[in-house]
Amino acid sequence: MPTMNTQVLFRRTPAGLPVTDDLEIVETEIPELNAGALLIENSYLSLDPYMRMLMGGGWMFRGYAMESGQVMAGRCLGVVAESRHDDFKAGDRVIGSFGWQTHTVSDGSDVEFRVPPRDDIPVTAYLGVCGTNGLTAWAGLKMIGAPQSGETVAVSAAAGSVGSAAGQIASAWGCRAIGIAGGAEKCGIVTGEFGFDACCDYKGDNLGEQLHAAAPGGIDVYFDNVGGEMLDTILPLLNRGGRVPVCGVLSQYNASGDYYGVRNTRLIFDKQLRLQGFLVSAYREMWEEARAELVDLVATGRLRYRETIAEGIRSAPEAFIGMLQGRNLGKQLVRIA
Ligand code: NAP
Repeated sequence: MPTMNTQVLFRRTPAGLPVTDDLEIVETEIPELNAGALLIENSYLSLDPYMRMLMGGGWMFRGYAMESGQVMAGRCLGVVAESRHDDFKAGDRVIGSFGWQTHTVSDGSDVEFRVPPRDDIPVTAYLGVCGTNGLTAWAGLKMIGAPQSGETVAVSAAAGSVGSAAGQIASAWGCRAIGIAGGAEKCGIVTGEFGFDACCDYKGDNLGEQLHAAAPGGIDVYFDNVGGEMLDTILPLLNRGGRVPVCGVLSQYNASGDYYGVRNTRLIFDKQLRLQGFLVSAYREMWEEARAELVDLVATGRLRYRETIAEGIRSAPEAFIGMLQGRNLGKQLVRIA
């Protein structure tokens, strides 16, 4: 049995974009297992933008921050190495909040899901497109966006994990999908590989004009991963009765000082729009139904995904900082073992 654990600890709240010194890598001994405990050997760590919120700072993070010295919170896919728990046996593949570390001693309460053995779905998909990211895309679209076949759905951060799934689910439901991503290469993948009908480069010239050209009939649903100025740009392009599932505010996670105040709020009234923030955890009772649809879409090739995989737990801080800057394509993972 392994004796040492490599952990990434939260050290201090970043000023804006995190730097590696905001985190610390330590080696600790793995304790003996008590009755009722299990030892999980983590295989992959999922890196997600919400982790920046857990690090605190800025105007929006009060109430979220972790304590200095805590293991960074995060979801992992792991294998049970040893079990003194009646419900788990060695070899079980599990997903849960096991943290940024190579090994996790658990009482089972942090296990969220057992990965079913299937040949047609790679196990890492359960950390992304068939896991929280896909479930988020599905829930935001289904419960808030509620697109009808033939409607136009715009999605920001469309080359990312949630965004790429949201657009492809919309396509599978008979909608026209318009992506927004940073740079020509990502836009090419959004249309070429993920099959969106068009993709606009928000780092290029005049996003509003690009979107108007891509969606001359207007936008019915805007799946918003970004917030800020991009939301202001899109509000005038929404059709009457448009819906905006507010999934995240990527443009604001590293912001310091004054936050961006959306100006076009009168359009929410004029066009009778519905903007609603949501957390995927609020739709837990729908996860089984959603996951079954996601798995079917992936297995039949109608939902494609990309992964960016960093090697080794020690690479996690750099990979996380890179993801916050858009260096990832699709789901950002760290291979641990
Ligand atoms: P992701 O999209 O795979 O990765 C982040 C991507 O965001 C980057 O690759 C980058 O792509 C883009 N980005 C970064 N800064 C940006 C900015 N200022 N403006 C526009 N785009 C920016 O991450 P994800 O895990 O799929 O998460 C996407 C969103 O879903 C996030 O807002 C996250 O917080 C949210 N989320 C919400 C829930 C929920 O329960 N509501 C659950 C999971 C995730 P580009 O190169 O294209 O800029």
